Amino acid sequence: MRVRHLASAAALLGALCVPAQAQARDIGRDTLPAHDGWAAHGTGTTGGAAADDAHVYTVTDRAGLVRALDGGSDTPKIIKIAGTVDANTDDDGGRLDCADYATGGYDLKKYLAAYDPRTWGTARPSGPQEEARRASAARQAERVELAVGSHTTLVGLGSSAVLKGASLRVDGAHNVIVRNLDLRDAYDCFPAWQPNTGGLGDWKAAYDNLWLRGATHVWVDHVTASDRGHLDEDEPSCFGRNYLRHDGLLDITNGSDLVTVSWSRFADHDKAMLIGNSDTATGDRGRLRVTLHHNEFEAVVQRAPRVRFGQVHVYNNRYVVPDDAHDHRYALGVSTESAVHAENNAFTTPGHVEAADLVKSWNGTALHATGTLFNGYPVDLLDIHNAYNSGSERDLTADVGWTPALHGPIDSARQADREVARGAGAGRIR
Ligand code: CA
Repeated sequence: MRVRHLASAAALLGALCVPAQAQARDIGRDTLPAHDGWAAHGTGTTGGAAADDAHVYTVTDRAGLVRALDGGSDTPKIIKIAGTVDANTDDDGGRLDCADYATGGYDLKKYLAAYDPRTWGTARPSGPQEEARRASAARQAERVELAVGSHTTLVGLGSSAVLKGASLRVDGAHNVIVRNLDLRDAYDCFPAWQPNTGGLGDWKAAYDNLWLRGATHVWVDHVTASDRGHLDEDEPSCFGRNYLRHDGLLDITNGSDLVTVSWSRFADHDKAMLIGNSDTATGDRGRLRVTLHHNEFEAVVQRAPRVRFGQVHVYNNRYVVPDDAHDHRYALGVSTESAVHAENNAFTTPGHVEAADLVKSWNGTALHATGTLFNGYPVDLLDIHNAYNSGSERDLTADVGWTPALHGPIDSARQADREVARGAGAGRIR
């Protein structure tokens, strides 16, 4: 009896008390400062700042988070995450692993045997194992995909708030703030084989840590997004391709617009940030306006970001490719009708990564890139791209057709590099 009494006292303490540092300043009602990037355009971004007291929540588990999110409702609300919330849990908080989701006889060995390109060919997978994979994936999606509605602020309390395994979706919503949160390991138990991707075929994982889809006026600040817990480079190679468990860290697609991403950290991941997901999505023209400033991209293979259509201001970001990077493809991806205005960004890379490796273009025509530091030395990314591109890429011009007007003070790349190293990511709001 005594043991049980102590345990419930501890549980009570955990539910009623928050760490001391969380009491320092309540960031829940903060709004995006004026002029701070594209999300400051027009009415600005206030998230849930107008919430009444009945719609301010502190949550400590998935069930509490789901209740507070209220199915993605538009009611102004402020949701504070305390400690670690794991999306892969049942309604009683019990941990769910991939075996718990698997249904219909799904078995990876059988899946691989069924769709081996040497016997199956290049048709889309179909039949019992693909049906079982889809049914199993639907069971995981029902737990990990969490809709965030309009007029919502989602923040971490203190310096240690983590949301694990979740895919947050701001889908068709507006006026949303996500801050001070470690969004970790949006792990797909059931990746799909896509035979026609990239010539050889490729594995497609389902979940972005944060997906803005048709979302407007969104401020992402002091967020850390990574695969921490399960690195794709530790996954096996199946059908000659890395068995990827993760999709994007932060994807901004389908007509999303007016987004500011600041002081955030994107790390340990392959495809970090996609802005515009299709060359034929002409509805994205005039939209996908995004500002990225004072962010850190560390150990990211590609898409930091890759842009289609949007006017994207990329300033004062810090890029680090670690010495032991197994793979690095590019940082800035210049795709169809993109208008990237990059200034005063700092890159630190090991010897095998050259300045010419930082920019890649597909169907892009222009890139503004000034004030760039490469391992401490000033470089002209545009000149280097045009001089050393692979030959299949056409030359880019410097005229992207716009000049950013909404931004805070722009530091030198050297100063930004130092301050971002110290201040970007969750748990670092001063
Ligand atoms: Ca995605």
